[in-house]
Amino acid sequence: MAALAPTPIDADPGIADLIAARPALSMHAIDGLTLEGVPLNAIADAVGTPCWVISAGVLRARLSELQAAMAGVGAHVHYAVKANDHLAVLRVMQAGGAGADVVSGGELLRAREAGIAPERIVFSGVGKTVAELCLALETGIAQLNVESAEELEMLSATAAAMGRRARIALRINPDVDAGTHAKIATGRAEDKFGIAMADAAGLYARAAGLPGVEPVGLAVHIGSQITAMAPYRAAFARTTELVGSLRASGLAVQTLDCGGGLGIGYRDEPHGSPKALAGAMGAAFGALGLRLMIEPGRWLAGPAGLLLASVVLTKTTGSRRFVVLDAAMNDLLRPSLYDAWHGLAPLSPVDAVAPTFPADVVGPVCESGDTFARARELPVLAAHARVAILDAGAYGSVMSSTYNARPLAAEVMVDGVNWAVIRPRQPVEALWANELVPDWLAPR
Ligand SMILES: *Cc1c(COP(=O)(O)O)cnc(C)c1O
Repeated sequence: MAALAPTPIDADPGIADLIAARPALSMHAIDGLTLEGVPLNAIADAVGTPCWVISAGVLRARLSELQAAMAGVGAHVHYAVKANDHLAVLRVMQAGGAGADVVSGGELLRAREAGIAPERIVFSGVGKTVAELCLALETGIAQLNVESAEELEMLSATAAAMGRRARIALRINPDVDAGTHAKIATGRAEDKFGIAMADAAGLYARAAGLPGVEPVGLAVHIGSQITAMAPYRAAFARTTELVGSLRASGLAVQTLDCGGGLGIGYRDEPHGSPKALAGAMGAAFGALGLRLMIEPGRWLAGPAGLLLASVVLTKTTGSRRFVVLDAAMNDLLRPSLYDAWHGLAPLSPVDAVAPTFPADVVGPVCESGDTFARARELPVLAAHARVAILDAGAYGSVMSSTYNARPLAAEVMVDGVNWAVIRPRQPVEALWANELVPDWLAPR
């Protein structure tokens, strides 16, 4: 036998390691890769690929774990709907007792459609339109998180004209670098989100004097995929200081929305810890008598979902081996948008233990950015072999497009022994069903 090169210490986790680290996945000797015991090959046989699969069991388990950690500090969980806004996902969250954090009128209506009570809904976002503010006021949601002086005036005028008074929190920008990818950092001074610390106290006092709003507290959300606690602690320390100075000047502060952002282990980095987050919240705010809430999206939904794909072909160009899948960046955008690393696991039990070689895993879309993984150790995969792209439950299907006239992929929910299609594959004709050709153009 040839001597093997030593494994570099920064080597990617192997296929067995990826499966072992994800309790809902297992590799069955005959059925291959299963999710909650359901063979993923059975789903792919019935529905085809590409296909999103989300586990209700994992969603529930993660929500329970988060709620248990937050119970100690009395914080309520508001699921960030944008991570995965499918009605079936929202139903699982609603049934588990989560409220919702929404960032658009569409998400507000989705949350209501899924049965989430208005008094459990919080509305964030830098550019809420007057129509969205009216919808929020008519629905009677719990709280609007206001992100600028301009929005504050707009909201007060809109609410006053409707004879209402909106409960608001000011979203502050604590100028903290969350140490995450630049495209998902939201709490630095140069980011578009929130109100500068220097302006917050003045604006809070201004809000207290306006007819259409009632300031009830503060909100802070510094970014996404945060796995260390230091950025949270820094943001919370600044928030505590502000609560103190607001109260010292006679202003009431009752609620604090601590945002989302808790990260997950896509590769082999540790998951963000709900217990550690609750600890940081307790240490900063425990003595202040505030009603606390959090708005996680990724931590709840990310590990619950995956994307099934089939190999179209394998090609070699120069020295590089390419595995071309039938899934692409229009389905899962995260690798091209954020250079995100996603685990890849073959569905076949034979492929899962075969010798591996580095390959670039790509989609068929006509962009070099349509790349899921570079130099990834994978077995030789024949055409039609299937793979699961792991941890795709958050910021996956919601960011899909139909670029290259590729219909939206099917979606399936697994729940114990049950599984069901929760969105059929989009028929190709649907892509142009709403397109109108002006009648001055020559008829076909
Ligand atoms: C996106 C977002 C969240 C959720 O972020 P995750 O990283 O998915 O937890 C929470 N709050 C606000 C205001 C957001 O914009």
